[in-house]
Amino acid sequence: MDYVIATIASHSALQILKGARDEGFKTIAICKGGKEKPYKLFDVADEIILVDDFSLESFNAVEIRLKEKNAILIPHGSFVSYLGTERCTQLSTLYYGNKAVLEWESNRVKERVWLEKAGLQLPRQFDSAEEIDCPAIVKFHGALGGRGYFIAKDAADFKAKIAKSVYKNRSYVIQEYIVGVPVYIHYFYSPLTKELEVMSFDRRYETNVDSIGRIHTTDQAQLNVDVSYVVVGNTPLVIRESLLSKVIEMGENIVAASMIINEHGLFGPFCLETILTPNQEFIVFEISARIVAGTNLFINGSPYTDLKYSAPMSTGRRIAVDIKQAIEQNRLHEVLH
Ligand code: AMP
Repeated sequence: MDYVIATIASHSALQILKGARDEGFKTIAICKGGKEKPYKLFDVADEIILVDDFSLESFNAVEIRLKEKNAILIPHGSFVSYLGTERCTQLSTLYYGNKAVLEWESNRVKERVWLEKAGLQLPRQFDSAEEIDCPAIVKFHGALGGRGYFIAKDAADFKAKIAKSVYKNRSYVIQEYIVGVPVYIHYFYSPLTKELEVMSFDRRYETNVDSIGRIHTTDQAQLNVDVSYVVVGNTPLVIRESLLSKVIEMGENIVAASMIINEHGLFGPFCLETILTPNQEFIVFEISARIVAGTNLFINGSPYTDLKYSAPMSTGRRIAVDIKQAIEQNRLHEVLH
């Protein structure tokens, strides 16, 4: 029986499903009722399974249908946040990727252990406000998407700002604020070819931090505007060619270090979220161990995939290529964990 590629209709589903089609797969979009319009308009799904919600009960029913169709699920950012890490790891449908990685990217302590093992440069982290000895960014946990983050220059500043924060009851992390430009690096690693690929780069467009500079500093001070880091979109980026060898080395190191997770490690698409400093150093503040929405810029391929592939290669399509090659080589078990 042939395999079908399925994902939840959100985030990067359009390119995942289109890429699967381009590689000859039939596709399924699992869609919350009322959200199906883009998936019909862009005609990327052979079948749309409508659900009322992503509760355990609804998704169990979806899984029965997916298994009948021999579907392979492709995870993405919204996929993980709709179902939650724990339920994702319990899915019994065929799943592209290593589920064990989810726990390591969502747990900030484990994530840091992994990034440090890879020898990457990370922002310093402060265990308490008293330790703040440089500008620091305070980041709340949970699906806030950058809302409410603030900058504190010392313990007194932190205490004044946290007391006013509507999120003060949530857990948070205090990190050194890195001055530089944000660079999101999109990678792909195939366990079949054992090769790391640089797919593309983006920078996030975040409100209101990316627009605050449009008003004069005196007005900023008078208006008393709080900054926030809520992502609203992404813009494409190419980086200095001289930085590419460092980029490749970082990707290779994170894959090598992922053996700390289990014997399958990290494979498929992933992203290192970095700030590039004036000293040309990448400081990594996060890893996303799956396809990121910034790759949506490159449905038709990026300058980097254009160098490597003769076809327009999105990250979504690259996933389909991996699955197709695994099937052809009788190695599908190597990409489904
Ligand atoms: P995060 O929730 O960790 O993805 O962070 C959201 C945004 O905050 C990022 O896209 C950056 O613009 C900014 N940011 C996060 N951590 C740092 C840091 N340590 N230094 C400077 N900016 C940061």
